[in-house]
Parts: sequence; structure tokens; C-alpha cells
Amino acid sequence: ELVIFKDLVNHVLDRFEMMLQSEDYEGKNYIIKRELMEEEVWVEIDQDKLIQVIDNIMNNAIKYSPDGGIIYVRLMSTHNQLVLSIQDQGLGIPQESIPHLFDRFYRVDKARSRAQGGSGLGLSIAKEEIELHNGKIWVNSIENKGTTFFISLPFEEFDSDEWAGEDEWADEEEE
Ligand code: ATP
Ligand code: MG
Repeated sequence: ELVIFKDLVNHVLDRFEMMLQSEDYEGKNYIIKRELMEEEVWVEIDQDKLIQVIDNIMNNAIKYSPDGGIIYVRLMSTHNQLVLSIQDQGLGIPQESIPHLFDRFYRVDKARSRAQGGSGLGLSIAKEEIELHNGKIWVNSIENKGTTFFISLPFEEFDSDEWAGEDEWADEEEE
């Protein structure tokens, strides 16, 4: 499907904001801050799969931030790549765990993770999906400070100005 990637991100975040307003999160102070580029970039993607990926990263950001905090979601574009980042102020990930993070069933703290629920598959699926879309996924993290996940996705530049310019010429020639 051809979609405006920013709309997809907003759609997922709207759902999380609704969830955070529910009773389950009463008294917990999670704040989602969006810093999304103005420009509307279209991407050819499997929408449901990409929603699942962003969903898991957002879920992780909340799950592994037991004291709440701000979750920054940023979207920018550079040379035909979209870059989405999701930054939390949670538990962080030990450096030695980072190389294994995208492995199937890998979880940093077995006991803690079990209590949180889930299977340890989310990030391995995310990596698979992003790579199928010719993108990349990576992470920066500092223990007890927080974690930032990055996703980059290639997109085809469609230069609308150029087309508008050609139309103008055509009009002038007709007159
Ligand atoms: P599932 O996604 O299948 O429900 P999960 O969340 O444990 O289970 P992944 O999403 O693959 O599995 O994450 C793997 C592990 O990486 C987690 O168990 C956790 O230890 C660590 N992790 C992931 N995201 C974060 C984060 N934002 N902060 C701290 N640790 C994280
Ligand atoms: Mg997960």
C-alpha cells in the first residue's frame, strides 16, 4: 500500500494516548511527545506490518519504563530515507545485551521480563519486517537512563514542484 508514513505514526500514537488515559495507567505519568516532520512523505509499505512494528517499540518503551516518563517520537527525512526514533527514559539496556536484542526470544532480564508478559519475539519480528522493507533498525541505550530505537525506511522521491512547473508551461503554450 502507498501511505503517508506520518499519518500511520500518528494513528499508532493516538491509540497509545487513548490507552494511557485508561484506568490501568491512572497515577502513572507517561507523556508522548511528537516531533514529526511537516512534509508528507509517501511510502510503499505493508501497513499492518509496520503498525505492528511501531506498536511493539511503543509497548516496550512503556513496559520498560516502570516510573513513566516522556516518550519522544521523532520523524525526519534525509536523502530518500525516513528516520523514525522512539526514545524512552526507562531502564535502558546493558551494552552487552545490545548485540542480542533482535534475536528471537532474547530478553534482557528473564525474571523481570516474565513478570511483564510477552515472549521476546517483538524485536526479532520488527527486524525481519523492516529488512523486508529494505530498511534498518538499530538502538542506542544507556542503563538507567533510557533507550532510543531508530528505524530507517527508504522512499522514492516524487518531486511535485517539477510536475507543477510542467503544467504551468503547458497552460501558457495553449493560450
Ligand atoms: P514481546 O515483544 O514478544 O511481547 P518482549 O517485549 O520481551 O516480548 P522484544 O520486544 O523482542 O520482546 O524485546 C526484547 C527485550 O529487549 C525485552 O525483553 C527487554 O529486555 C529489552 N527491551 C526492549 N525494548 C526495551 C526498552 N525500550 N527499554 C529497555 N529494555 C528493552
Ligand atoms: Mg516487546
